[in-house]
Amino acid sequence: MSYQIIDGKAISKQIKEECRVKAEQYRERGILITLAVVQVGQDPASSVYVRNKKRACEECGIKSLSYELPEETTEEELLSLIGKLNADSAVNGILVQLPLPGQIDENRVIQAIDARKDVDGFHPMNAGALCTGQRGFVSCTPAGIIELLKRSNIEIAGKECVVIGRSNIVGKPAALLLLAENGTVTVCHSRTKNLKEVVSRADIVVAAVGKPKFITADHIKEGAAVIDVGIHRNENGKLCGDVDFDSVAPKCSAITPVPGGVGPMTIAMLMSNCIASVDLSESL
Ligand code: NAP
Repeated sequence: MSYQIIDGKAISKQIKEECRVKAEQYRERGILITLAVVQVGQDPASSVYVRNKKRACEECGIKSLSYELPEETTEEELLSLIGKLNADSAVNGILVQLPLPGQIDENRVIQAIDARKDVDGFHPMNAGALCTGQRGFVSCTPAGIIELLKRSNIEIAGKECVVIGRSNIVGKPAALLLLAENGTVTVCHSRTKNLKEVVSRADIVVAAVGKPKFITADHIKEGAAVIDVGIHRNENGKLCGDVDFDSVAPKCSAITPVPGGVGPMTIAMLMSNCIASVDLSESL
């Protein structure tokens, strides 16, 4: 079967360009969209993510403010900075790069961010809004998954969708978004029985398992669309996903590659959330 490779790089570029145009329109109205990026410690992977987010801001004409705090920062110190950013009317979005050092409770930090500035979409108020079909920030990776499907003309309504993974940042919101698009959604996790049987019913598979090449050809129905959220480095230092691309792709109608699939979408949707923050802050 010939399959379509869903080009996340190209789609993310398109979204960032749309954001650049909107940011410019806001600038003409005197609004300079501003994202505060907070990093605690110097975890190398976090530093790469933070750098890429700041670069995307530059590309889109969004101002980024950088807060680099030492590894030994206390929870109180971080909460105090968040309080100041919440109160600063020039700041539209606040992003605290996760993971945080062990002495800081991530949930307390997420809940301290003003929901109207929560461009990561992790605050319980935004998670609740997604759950109840109200306006709010949607977390970036799941929002990116839906954009990939829509912009690749893959119909979701009425389709059997199986999400493997139920994390708060990927699996659960991805399932809720597919449901909002009128998919028939099943969520699988580590206690799911007969995983292969369940996944092989799917027209759309979202793999967010966190295990390299876990989904193989025998999980996949002929003609399914497969979105691979996983990112891993194999023993040769090459990137791979949760899906065994080489065996799965020939059975699919469409599939995301790793790299170049879901990965670039996360930052593009962050930019999109920064743009949306101006409108959302008025309605939340
Ligand atoms: P996570 O928090 O570790 O969640 C993994 C989920 O997979 C859990 O719900 C777990 O079930 C389920 N699972 C584990 N083993 C399973 C098995 N044998 N069968 C069925 N389900 C199983 O991971 P995450 O944060 O959602 O991330 C998932 C992957 O996406 C990771 O590779 C991560 O690096 C990647 N990621 C990529 C991006 C991006 O921008 N592309 C962003 C975020 C994450 P239980 O709940 O029962 O434990």
